[in-house]
Amino acid sequence: MKNIVILTGAGISAESGLRTFRDSDGLWEGYNIEDVATPEAWEHNPVMVQQFYNERRKSVLEAKPNAAHYALAALEEKYKVTIVTQNIDDLHERAGSTNVVHLHGIITRSQSSIKPELTYPIDGWEIKMGEKCELGSQLRAHVVWFGEAVPMIETAAAICAGADLFILVGSSLAVYPAAGLIGYVDRGVPKYIIDPNIPSVNVRGNVIKIQEKATIGVPALVNELLKD
Ligand code: NAD
Repeated sequence: MKNIVILTGAGISAESGLRTFRDSDGLWEGYNIEDVATPEAWEHNPVMVQQFYNERRKSVLEAKPNAAHYALAALEEKYKVTIVTQNIDDLHERAGSTNVVHLHGIITRSQSSIKPELTYPIDGWEIKMGEKCELGSQLRAHVVWFGEAVPMIETAAAICAGADLFILVGSSLAVYPAAGLIGYVDRGVPKYIIDPNIPSVNVRGNVIKIQEKATIGVPALVNELLKD
């Protein structure tokens, strides 16, 4: 069975109402990234950082998967599909995809602030100050901040190396190490890029650019692939 690997970024969830940050001048929902998405921010102002992610979680819970998420889930009818996502939302899972690797964590879980491997489901939308992990540290959102290790990166690189067909959707490829993953895909493998603003990629070989929004470009490509 053909092995399809899809790398998704914030752009695939844009039409579900979740804002990307490259599209808003480097601000994420009005905040400087350094003020909310770094270990230093958490150290200096944990209440503000917790509040920021609580609000993001609320928006994620209110959002619904869109036609692009559903189309990728439908690909499983005919292919072995792995989605590697940079997104912290759970819209791929809610659309029905069964094999999703979250490179940057998932906002619907909480995480120990001293041992990142300790993660927990969250009851509702909020992590409260004072809620602690089993080791006694404050719980925070289960997301990878700038400057933190990306524990899933080696797994993701191996997945990309095994692709027979690769699709990139809605990522500016500005955030490393995720942006380097396309470099692990074999040279001869077709690499589709779906984005209204195609990012520049430093790969040779078979790159097919589809300059469309995710809800148009992804279902169209999936229809073709299901026809084959
Ligand atoms: P990015 O914000 O850097 O880039 C977004 C990309 O999506 C751009 O290339 C843009 O042209 C494209 N795009 C915009 N609208 C689109 C649409 N309708 N269809 C298809 N593409 C569209 O996003 P990134 O490369 O994923 O990197 C940002 C980081 O921000 C990620 O690591 C992620 O963890 C985090 N983030 C996540 C979410 C989320 O989980 N939904 C939202 C914002 C940011």
